Amino acid sequence: MKEEELRECAVCDICNEKIGSGGNINFYRVNVKSYVFNLNEMQRQDGLAMFLGSPALARVMGSDEDMAKLTDENTITVCADCITAPVLLTALSEDL
Ligand SMILES: [Zn+2]
Repeated sequence: MKEEELRECAVCDICNEKIGSGGNINFYRVNVKSYVFNLNEMQRQDGLAMFLGSPALARVMGSDEDMAKLTDENTITVCADCITAPVLLTALSEDL
């Protein structure tokens, strides 16, 4: 990690303290992705499986579309103290 990238993650996104201020110089970068089910595609694939009588055959014969779509992706910095503390997962994403 180069200096400029390190400066972007100098503060913990959970406690808002500077990384290393508590004495522990370890930190983490956590990538959080949120998805939503693609219900139309799931229903279409399920219908094909019922028609063919086999989910495995439907998997081969189907269009192989995404069953869930990525709606948000966020990378946060977490200090060594916060990584062991219970955290609401919603705190890890800005849009949740
Ligand atoms: Zn922290």
